Amino acid sequence: MPESTRNQVRTTDISMLGLGAMGSALATASLGSGRSVTVWNRTPDRARGLVAHGARAAGAVREAVTASPVVVACLLTLPSVQETLGPVADELRGRTLVNLTTTTPGEARALASWAAGHGVDYLDGAVMAVPAMIGTREGRILYSGSRTAYETLLPVLDVWAPAEYHGADAGRASLVDLAMLSGMYQMFAGFFHGAAMVASTGMTASDFAARQAPFLSAMTHGLADYAKVVDGGDYTVPGQQSLDFSDLSHIVRTSEEQGVDPAPIAAVQALISRQIAAGHGAESFSRVYEGLRAAGSQAVSTEGAAA
Ligand code: NDP
Repeated sequence: MPESTRNQVRTTDISMLGLGAMGSALATASLGSGRSVTVWNRTPDRARGLVAHGARAAGAVREAVTASPVVVACLLTLPSVQETLGPVADELRGRTLVNLTTTTPGEARALASWAAGHGVDYLDGAVMAVPAMIGTREGRILYSGSRTAYETLLPVLDVWAPAEYHGADAGRASLVDLAMLSGMYQMFAGFFHGAAMVASTGMTASDFAARQAPFLSAMTHGLADYAKVVDGGDYTVPGQQSLDFSDLSHIVRTSEEQGVDPAPIAAVQALISRQIAAGHGAESFSRVYEGLRAAGSQAVSTEGAAA
């Protein structure tokens, strides 16, 4: 589309595609900051509340995309982004696409390369917040991809949540986000496992949570110390809890005695056992990190061989 024609249809600052819980929160925050916003959703009814707050509803994706220089996609998964944007690739040319849909790093890179092929400036975002945090200073959104897009749009992005730029590799924001979520979900699974263990004594999950939360919170102070050892690469430094001392088979057995599936703690014990079996029992518990990395690179090289 010639620039002059495109300028005629640029009637709003941002176009938001996807008005689920997150997309609606983002659109609301943008409207609240005084931006003009065009909204589109596959199920049109979801736009109603935002229109009442000043948004302009687009009846079709093409109309939404051509309405603004900045198009924000907050859909469900990669296929929903592809299905929505594929047919309007030509209209996206010359615009900036901010994709806040959760994807894997590889999927984010694939979208960035698709965007580059269509002359679209691409910024990938990973939302580390729930919808209620959008428009507050809680939570954050990680970005990677086009630095120009990030720097130009910072006043828009910062309204949603504190913004953090992670470099030109479009997959990096997603990678950091998913690595953070991996830790969070394993912590939650650990909590569910512990709550199931004490359930036989009649302790409720709420009672257990009241004890577990401050304990876990205190334990997180150890992360920085473990990180120093991992970054230094010397697992023999004095003052470390050894792998031998970290043997968790008594917790696995206790879980079994209670008739509770030991899967979460057994997975940790397997990592420890592997290090001990390799002769590292006297070294730091944090050496588990090396085992994880080594296992990952073996998996990658096996996949490579299969391909
Ligand atoms: P919702 O389930 O509330 O909304 C999903 C949105 O995607 C809806 O607008 C839905 O449209 C649309 N959609 C789904 N499939 C398609 C499709 N094939 N074509 C077009 N549109 C489609 O999810 P959220 O808003 O909560 O999440 C959106 C993204 O934000 C996700 O990737 C999620 O992982 C991410 N995110 C969400 C967080 C949260 O706490 N909610 C936190 C961090 C990230 P329709 O209304 O028609 O179904």
